[in-house]
Amino acid sequence: MALIPPDRARCQADVPTGHSFLSMGPGPKHVRCETSPHVIVEERRPGEDGHAGSMSLCLECLAVMSRQASGEIWQGVFIKEVI
Ligand SMILES: [Zn+2]
Repeated sequence: MALIPPDRARCQADVPTGHSFLSMGPGPKHVRCETSPHVIVEERRPGEDGHAGSMSLCLECLAVMSRQASGEIWQGVFIKEVI
């Protein structure tokens, strides 16, 4: 997670654009989510610089993350705040 402040106005997740590996040509595979965030998640353990990363997520991205993120990543964060 990048050590940038959580954005309370907009979900900070990157979501797939719909391009699959069959979609040849340029274009981002992910674009930033446009939804208003619902929670702020924070890493349980600080990184090497001593700061725990945090980011805002909307409910949908939170659900996607909980389904898709590896257990190690998902268990490494907690919901710090409900916006
Ligand atoms: Zn989102």
